[in-house]
Amino acid sequence: MIPEFTPEQKMLQETVRNFAEKEVAPLAYEIDRDERFPNESFRRLAEMGLLGITVPVEYGGAGAGYTDMCIVSEELGAVCCSTAAVWGTHSDLCVDNIRRNANEQQQRKYLPPLCDGSKIGGLAMTEPSAGSDVMSMKLKAERKKDEYILNGSKIFISNGPVGDIFVIYAKTAPEKGAHGVSAFIVEKDFQGFQRGKKFEKMGWRGSPTGELIFEDCRVPAENLLGKENQGAAVLMSGLNTERVLLGALSLGIARGAFECALKYAKERIQFGKPIASFQLVQAKLADMAMEVELTRLITYKGSAMADKGLHREMNLVAAYAKLYGSEVAMRVTTEAVQILGGYGYMKEFPVERMMRDAKLQTIGGGTSEIQRLIIAREVLA
Ligand SMILES: Cc1cc2nc3c(=O)[nH]c(=O)nc-3n(C[C@H](O)[C@H](O)[C@H](O)COP(=O)(O)OP(=O)(O)OC[C@H]3O[C@@H](n4cnc5c(N)ncnc54)[C@H](O)[C@@H]3O)c2cc1C
Repeated sequence: MIPEFTPEQKMLQETVRNFAEKEVAPLAYEIDRDERFPNESFRRLAEMGLLGITVPVEYGGAGAGYTDMCIVSEELGAVCCSTAAVWGTHSDLCVDNIRRNANEQQQRKYLPPLCDGSKIGGLAMTEPSAGSDVMSMKLKAERKKDEYILNGSKIFISNGPVGDIFVIYAKTAPEKGAHGVSAFIVEKDFQGFQRGKKFEKMGWRGSPTGELIFEDCRVPAENLLGKENQGAAVLMSGLNTERVLLGALSLGIARGAFECALKYAKERIQFGKPIASFQLVQAKLADMAMEVELTRLITYKGSAMADKGLHREMNLVAAYAKLYGSEVAMRVTTEAVQILGGYGYMKEFPVERMMRDAKLQTIGGGTSEIQRLIIAREVLA
């Protein structure tokens, strides 16, 4: 069952939709063209109290849940995927991870500046030779007295080029495989931390992606997140909610593209009639509407389960939301470009950007192939 949004959630939806349409949408073209971080929107999201949406009020957050998080992701994603990605990387991958796994001292130190936006957060798992097979990571963390010394690198890290605080996974006992991984909170000013290359991308262009390099990087032992060699549990604790949140972003992208195509189809006249009167165009609009609605159902089913604390039970639903949502975003944006014809291919309309942005949804946060493997494992069990 998917519960109705509460009055507070409906108000959040309306507030973020207004903000997205009035303040985020007008910047979306430029942010994409210039590959620039959406500073203005990030500041405004901080003022609106949305950077620490799941964080308790006492640490500077909004004290809300995963459904609220998905509402924000959908609304931002409907107008500017890059802004939604920057916000989701910060608020979910970094901030919610610290909320879930940090001790009280770490929460008091790191959550307030992340919630008020004075610090930007990110998370680094992926390495040049460890993507889908993330547990084969090589970044090494050696304990020396009251510090860990990190050596290695991470790749494709969202907010990497601009972030201040990162959740980093490294091997503290390489011989133990997944049982030798630990998580750390690393600040950009720690000795031995460097930013590497910033990548040029097809989509998600306002969400900066970069390399992080650790050369004898000194991390205080008190910055261990969770227990030593139990980083896999920290990592797994956020995978399902990340997948649902990516489902919400896909939903936003698909909805944005569908709304644009629907409006255009009613206005564009060919053969003396609006193209929406042609049955081949109607069939596309019907499929798009249905798939957007089905993505909504599975996404908010996932967020409702997360809000009930059913994290272990939601493997299947989270994988459905991630996989189905990403493939719907790809199909709907592609059909939207088709419905707009030549204009669909031009930058005057947002659908070509939405199509480029949608592609990453099938890759980041676990590829479509990996989601199918998870679903198969669950149904075969
Ligand atoms: C824009 C962007 C932002 C990102 N942000 C972050 C971030 O903030 N933090 C972070 O840690 N990572 C981030 N990533 C990394 C992302 O999570 C990985 O790219 C993703 O997990 C896939 O890993 P890979 O690129 O190494 O591909 P690979 O794992 O090399 O996969 C290549 C292909 O092989 C397929 N494949 C792999 N294994 C199997 C299998 N067992 N069976 C079938 N097919 C398989 C894959 O599905 C894929 O099609 C980001 C990536 C991008 C592009």
